[in-house]
Order: sequence, then C-alpha cells, then structure tokens
Amino acid sequence: MSRVEELARREIRRMENYRVQPVTGEKLDANESPFPLSDGLKARLADWLTKEEDLRVYPDTDCVELREALAEKYGVKKENLLCTVGSDQLIDFLNRAFLEEGDRVLVPEPSFSMYALSAVLNHGQAEAFSLDEDYAYPVEEILEQCCRVRPKILYLCTPNNPTGNRIPEADLRRLVKEAGCIVALDEAYGEFCKEDHTSWIREFPHMVILKTFSKAYGLAGIRAGYALGDPEIIGILDRVRPPYNLGTLSQKIALFALTQPEYKEQIEAICKERDRIYEALKIYNGKKGFYVYPSEANFLLIKFGRENPGQALLAAGLLVRAYGGKMSRFVRATVGRPDQNDRLIRRIARMIEEDEE
Ligand SMILES: *Cc1c(COP(=O)(O)O)cnc(C)c1O
Repeated sequence: MSRVEELARREIRRMENYRVQPVTGEKLDANESPFPLSDGLKARLADWLTKEEDLRVYPDTDCVELREALAEKYGVKKENLLCTVGSDQLIDFLNRAFLEEGDRVLVPEPSFSMYALSAVLNHGQAEAFSLDEDYAYPVEEILEQCCRVRPKILYLCTPNNPTGNRIPEADLRRLVKEAGCIVALDEAYGEFCKEDHTSWIREFPHMVILKTFSKAYGLAGIRAGYALGDPEIIGILDRVRPPYNLGTLSQKIALFALTQPEYKEQIEAICKERDRIYEALKIYNGKKGFYVYPSEANFLLIKFGRENPGQALLAAGLLVRAYGGKMSRFVRATVGRPDQNDRLIRRIARMIEEDEE
C-alpha cells in the first residue's frame, strides 16, 4: 500500500470507487427520461448562457426563488424546503447531520445503494432489513429492528428502486409513526404514481421527504433535488450544507421546469409504456425462471433463468442496470422511447426462448 493510501480513513481505504458502466447502446440503465429538453427550455438556456452577469457571480446560496416556487407547488412554506445537488446530496446531509461515530442507519435491501454508502462515508454503519419475497416492506420486522438496532435514521423508498413497488399507505404510516428515529422517505419516483406525503410533514417533525428533478422531470444533468420537512429538521440539514451548493443554471432550469405543463403528459406516456412492456412480458412469468415484476415507477425489475442477463441485452445494444451477488439474475430496465421498448421486449422474448427449460 502506498503512503497516501495509508493516510486515508480506514473505511475509505476499504472502499471501491463509484463507477458507472460505459455507455454503449440504448441507455436504459439509469432511470433517466426518454424525452428531450423542451424547445421552451432550450430557448431560455440560450438566454441565460449569454447573460454573463449571472454566471460571473455566485448563485443565490439559499435558492430562494426555487424554494418559493416549490413551496407554492406543495402548499407549504419555503422554510419547509431545502435544495440540494440531487437527492444524493440530501442523503449525505442527513447522515452528516445526524450520525456520530458508529451510529447506525437502517436501510432496505434491495434498494438504493447510496443510503448505506453515504452512512459509511459519514462515520456511521448501515444495517439492512430484507424486503419480503414479493418485495413488500416487512413492517413488523422493521419496527422490531428499529427497537433492537436503535438506528438514527430509517430509510424508506417508495416506490422502491429497483423493485418498483410502493409501500402501502397504512404500512408507511405505521413505520413513520413508530420508528422512533429520523425517517427519510425517498420519493424519487413518486411522480409516476402520484406518491406524495408532503401533508405528513406537519404531523411528523422527524420525517424528511426526498425529491429530485432527475427522474420525472428528466433533468438528471442539472443535479437538483430537495427536501420537504418540518422547519426544525430542514434547519438542521441547512447547517451542514456547504454555501452555494446548487449552481445558478441548475436553479434556473429547475425553476423553469416547474412552470412547464408538458411533464404531466410525459409522465402519463412513460407509465403507459411501462404498462405496455409489463403486459408484453408478463405472459412469460414463471417460464424458465423468468419473472417481470409490476412497477409503479419508470423502470421494471426483471428476473431471468440465466446468470448475468444484462450481458445478452448489452450484446443486443440495450444497456440496462445489472446486479451482482443475490441479484445476478436480475436487471432493471428503464422505460425508454417506444422504439427502444419494442427492442427490449423482442430481445427478452428471444432470451427466454434460448434459455434452458
Ligand atoms: C435516482 C434516485 C435518486 C436521486 O438521485 P439524484 O441524486 O437526485 O439524481 C434518489 N433515490 C433513488 C431511490 C433514486 O433511484
């Protein structure tokens, strides 16, 4: 080990660098939107880029205009909102603000890997609870684990990535109410099924909702996310926020996106395509180990009889999210354009034919 490597924190020395797969083929791996930027947004972008003054100076550190617009959208106050560099940064703020050396967070498995990764980066530890066979959140077990593990933060994701199912309302309410710790409710895909628990933030001051412009708004490139919560918890998260965290262009683009009516139609179109893919593949469920799971998000979890099915899809020019370990027979495919989805369906049907009985 080199000297510099030895100087790094122990948990960092053990860690691998976060890498994403190189892009080859149709990009259905990251739950991005298949819709291009609107002409309206492109025109405004050209305007903003030519106004040198905007970019020469620091951005509004408090994202006031964006928070005001979001406050209006949700019927809350701007004190209920905090803007971040994607919801990834919000996960970091949560762990940074609440974890002391050795503190634990409780995370679902399988779910979004950032919860655990960020906890470790922030001197904490992650304990996982397994979702049920059909990927439902096991409420009793989670509450029992909360009592035993005494986590600082419980992470919940609805609809869950990569399984696509949402947490039923009554279950979610019990989890939030009885967890006895901070509850981080990740609604990154909420827009695809009208999942929105903003009204709960008045009732549950220990809950924070995580939202993003990356998925339904199709703006993963601007890295804008936000938290909704009681002013007290928002204020705490604000203390660990570096100044000027969200850039000027990102703030402007996010603000503009909120005024655009086409997102509603785009979300509907994506859901329709998702259901079309599901219906087309569902007929193979149970055949040669194949299974497509119902989804309320903009992606589908698909299980194959073979190992590493992502490779055969990649060979056919379809880049999907592949997994290792227990999930090595699964892929997560983002709902793409209709032509991409047709290719996906055709290729998967062929793979099932090829697979052994
Ligand atoms: C994509 C995603 C996010 C958001 O990521 P950003 O940092 O906002 O781009 C958060 N949670 C889950 C579960 C996701 O899949």
